[in-house]
Amino acid sequence: MSAYNADSLANKDGYSGLIQIPGDILQQILFWSLESLPDEILVGLDSDNTRPHLSEVDDLFYGDEFEEGKFAGEGFVLGDATIVNRGDSFSVHHVPEEWTDGIFTQSRGPRGGRFIHWLHTHPNAVAIPSKQDAEAAQHTLGVDMILGIEFSPSGPLPWYDDAEGVRRKLQPNDIAPVKNKRQRGWFSKSEKPVLGIAPTGHQIHGLELISFHKSGTGINVIFVNDEGYPYGWPF
Ligand SMILES: [Zn+2]
Repeated sequence: MSAYNADSLANKDGYSGLIQIPGDILQQILFWSLESLPDEILVGLDSDNTRPHLSEVDDLFYGDEFEEGKFAGEGFVLGDATIVNRGDSFSVHHVPEEWTDGIFTQSRGPRGGRFIHWLHTHPNAVAIPSKQDAEAAQHTLGVDMILGIEFSPSGPLPWYDDAEGVRRKLQPNDIAPVKNKRQRGWFSKSEKPVLGIAPTGHQIHGLELISFHKSGTGINVIFVNDEGYPYGWPF
């Protein structure tokens, strides 16, 4: 999280807004994401109206392109996360009926507008919005987030990174490549680093996270502690 925050600061001029995610919420989302592999998950989030951003943090992280009043929940740390759906990329954005309470989906989007912010995972694909993601985001009041997870064995769909956009690694800067011990004596299929093993047994090679606004602009993300300071503070 410290490495990610440092990148967010270095690249702040490329973003029109800023969201702050508590570290324990990220931890919860990562756990749900990893225990659901190889499926994709959809997570709904609200803002915590009791936790405004610290002005000294905003002052440091607002860049040249910052636009005030861009989205709902702006200026407040994100609150509790709720896992809303799990499935493949075609079904996961359609929130189950028990979540939408019969709300007419055409007027509020397939997700029923129940939460302010949304996050979904991209199992074995870069964290860059697809055309469907951009369409689903048109109903988002706050911001959309995508968590990309590179893992093996990858199943039928290998790692997909043929997409245009700014990628943001969510992992320490220096990780040594690790050989798969089960392939000893043979050329290793994978020289990729292993960040850890998911509860499903998958090896995790990479994580990336981005946020965007329905207008198509990027939203900067930082991870904050219980006091509201970004990990790695002071920079
Ligand atoms: Zn997507």
